[in-house]
Amino acid sequence: MIITVASFKGGVGKTTTSVHLAAYLQNHAPTLLIDGDPNRSASKWAERGGFPFQVVDERQGARYARQYEHIVIDTAARPDDADLKSLAGGCDLLVLPTTPDAMALDALVLTVEALQRVGATNYRILVTIAPPKPSRDGEDAWALLQGKGYPLFETIVKRRVAFQKAALAGQLVVAAGDPRAELGWEDYLSVGKEIRL
Ligand code: ADP
Repeated sequence: MIITVASFKGGVGKTTTSVHLAAYLQNHAPTLLIDGDPNRSASKWAERGGFPFQVVDERQGARYARQYEHIVIDTAARPDDADLKSLAGGCDLLVLPTTPDAMALDALVLTVEALQRVGATNYRILVTIAPPKPSRDGEDAWALLQGKGYPLFETIVKRRVAFQKAALAGQLVVAAGDPRAELGWEDYLSVGKEIRL
């Protein structure tokens, strides 16, 4: 399976989602993470510590790809219509993370409209970095997107400090040593299960 993670806006959890989906898939079959983001966030994250899967940049992707059952691709932010068409055409599932704030949601709507224009249907939105209760921002954003008829993951990834700690330590959230880290991993486990349904 090839999963591509894309977003127009930065800071919406694109790299965090790519890394943890790769970790989920690696638990089932050999998985490669292709870092196509010019910021190379995933590669730098891996260099600080270590992941249980291989990370290569996009220029090496073709060479490695055939050795792996699953591929996750982290892409450059701000894709235009042509980029989106290629991205959707080159994967089984295009995952579009968004935070539940107005600016990210506006950018997401433009992305979905662009995907609709090019006739892509293999995409799904993931609401990420949702603030903890009593805030209902995550749920409200989810309901707004569902009301538009957009395809969504049921899971909402909550905001947890463990994700930042994990990135600093060069680890997956589950290895970050934070008592709440397990809950962060469980969010991505449940996203992974939705993908494998
Ligand atoms: P993008 O790739 O969209 O720019 P990142 O995955 O790099 O986004 O995440 C942006 C920032 O938010 C990073 O500091 C990251 O550690 C943090 N982050 C990502 N997901 C979460 C989360 N669920 N909870 C808290 N912080 C998060």
